[in-house]
Amino acid sequence: MNDSNINMSGEDHGTPKTVFIDRDGVINRDSPDYIKTRAEFHFLPGSLEAFRLLSEHRYTAIVITNQSVIGRNLTTPEELQLIFEMMKQDIVKAGGLVTDILFCPHTPSDHCQCRKPQPGMIFDAREKYSIDLATSVMIGDSVKDILCAENAGVGRAVLVKTGNGLKAHAELSARGISPDYLAEDLLDAVRWIISNDGIYDREH
Ligand SMILES: [Mg+2]
Repeated sequence: MNDSNINMSGEDHGTPKTVFIDRDGVINRDSPDYIKTRAEFHFLPGSLEAFRLLSEHRYTAIVITNQSVIGRNLTTPEELQLIFEMMKQDIVKAGGLVTDILFCPHTPSDHCQCRKPQPGMIFDAREKYSIDLATSVMIGDSVKDILCAENAGVGRAVLVKTGNGLKAHAELSARGISPDYLAEDLLDAVRWIISNDGIYDREH
């Protein structure tokens, strides 16, 4: 394995870069009925490998997710935490790492500062981990994710075609907004980020 903080030109990247990742429709299959139980959580193909690659290349992975399923009383905070724990354990078993999971429990009518596209969760993460947002990347499947990246000053935004991605792409296009990359899925998004940063070892 190469030293992931050194790119092809030998330049030292210093602090690992941060990748903010939406959950539903990106990491796991989304559902119009929300993900309310551990039994309803299913990883999308390639997600676990994506987290493994991020770890191998020493990126910090932080999950940023709207979970109005709490505000709508469709599940309990305890079950949501159990879903997160199960997800993290499976990612660790596959060789990846999730540094943190930030979630917004509110509904749109709460008018909070954390529900994406508001930048609150990204700002909380920046505060907690001293993140340089300009070098960070957001990966999401919805218009809200892409606008959140823009609102927070996250350097790059990647839209995946999984989940609501294709619908979001059409809506963003109509508004004249294009993500930095339209990825097939989370694994393609991660490969693009690593490759784009010039530190992707193509033998992997
Ligand atoms: Mg989503």
